[in-house]
Amino acid sequence: MPGFHVEHFGCRAARADGEAVSGRLRAAGLGERNEATADVVVVNTCSVTAEADRAARAFIRRAHRLNPEARIVVTGCYAQRAPEELAGMAGVAAVVGNSHKALAPEIVLGLVRDGTLDRAGVGPVAAAELVSVQSLLAGSARNSAPIWVDDRFAHSFLEEAQVVPGTQTRPNLKIQEGCGNRCSFCVIPQTRGSSRSLPAATVLRQVEGFVAAGGNELVLSGINLGRWGRDLAGSVDAGEGSPMRRLLAGLTLAGLVRRILERTGLPRLRLSSIEPMDWDAELIGLMAEFGSPQAGGATLARHAHLPLQSGSDAVLRRMHRRYRPWHYAEKVEALVRAAGPELTLGADVMAGFPGETDAEFEETLELVRALPFGYLHLFPFSPRPGTRGWTLYAEAPVPAAVVEERMAVLRTLAAEKSKTHRRCFVGRELEAITLHTPAAEAAAGRTLALTENFLPVELAGQLSANRLVRVRVGGLNAEGTLEAACSNPA
Ligand code: SF4
Repeated sequence: MPGFHVEHFGCRAARADGEAVSGRLRAAGLGERNEATADVVVVNTCSVTAEADRAARAFIRRAHRLNPEARIVVTGCYAQRAPEELAGMAGVAAVVGNSHKALAPEIVLGLVRDGTLDRAGVGPVAAAELVSVQSLLAGSARNSAPIWVDDRFAHSFLEEAQVVPGTQTRPNLKIQEGCGNRCSFCVIPQTRGSSRSLPAATVLRQVEGFVAAGGNELVLSGINLGRWGRDLAGSVDAGEGSPMRRLLAGLTLAGLVRRILERTGLPRLRLSSIEPMDWDAELIGLMAEFGSPQAGGATLARHAHLPLQSGSDAVLRRMHRRYRPWHYAEKVEALVRAAGPELTLGADVMAGFPGETDAEFEETLELVRALPFGYLHLFPFSPRPGTRGWTLYAEAPVPAAVVEERMAVLRTLAAEKSKTHRRCFVGRELEAITLHTPAAEAAAGRTLALTENFLPVELAGQLSANRLVRVRVGGLNAEGTLEAACSNPA
């Protein structure tokens, strides 16, 4: 049986894309292997920072060194942003941008079948679509791999593959793609196009299929998840057809979440990152209504990730972010009121945006100190070609040493906030789901789990993955991990 390997980089939405490619390849009869033994290696890249680009290139070089016979197919945001950079690398057999990602499985199957990417080898669906990129193929440099990229993003959703609990106990269901915002540091609108939504009926069908396959926790994800549904309202696709389709037309994300919680039998739903201003009263209200775990009922996980980026009004304006620091704080207060102190709040914070002064950075620290964050994702600013941030960086870069200093201060603060939040749960009982536990931990008699409110815990004893359990938290170890015992191990 021919084998494939998918290497994931980037955010949860990108991960969902990679999982969907894997699902289609498994369904076509290919086996999953590691990169050293696979016939085709799919590299699902990210391009959010220069470091992400470097990591993808390093992986491609390593995969080719380990397995020179493997055909490497590069897809994702880096493939969309700079396909020529990748098409010339040794071992790369095809570059498939996000615009054509839905065709990636066909392209891989063509390579496995024939080892070539001529039209006959790629398969009926992709062969028809190749017409739209002939000019690009013709324009590809001699001796470099063919490129499937354009700016229409017509083949970028991969929703057909049913999401099931498999290698990931808590998989992502990507229901929204692209972004219409223009944050000045962000390359995503270029690499994924404008916002598009998976129709509500398809989302509900996916969730029902996940439940039928034994799934217990699903994560709704998207590039700009809070925008889900805006492009569907009033569209022919959403408004015509059966009464159910008409009923589902014009839903906002909150309406969709309510339907999932009330009608699908899914035990636990989690929302991934949502922009601060997209947390409207209806969505926040769902945290109050469905946030407390109730026996037999659906739960909306008490976990909210609101990208912050900066606590300085001036920096947020230069970033073209749509909220001010006080708007952010108001949303957090409303969320804590709705979900209670069990809420685990997370944010992305950036250090060293062009022109960021010491005083502006201090404003970020003050806001972070004041809010009840349970974790922070920290990033140094990275100039991305084609963005406004690239120009701003040329005009007013923050010296690298200063950025590193600020990152260190943020890392220390994030570790303190995380410990403070976790400590609140020592001695308490929480709902959790067991995860796939690495062999070393399992051999030591431990099981990894994640609580409903997004706290990683280590359980005493060996349990299989995907079990909903109640745990009693005994303490916080030196590494900052909560140790717990199962209170309903049966
Ligand atoms: S909201 Fe801003 S940071 Fe997020 S994907 Fe859109 S442009 Fe990028």
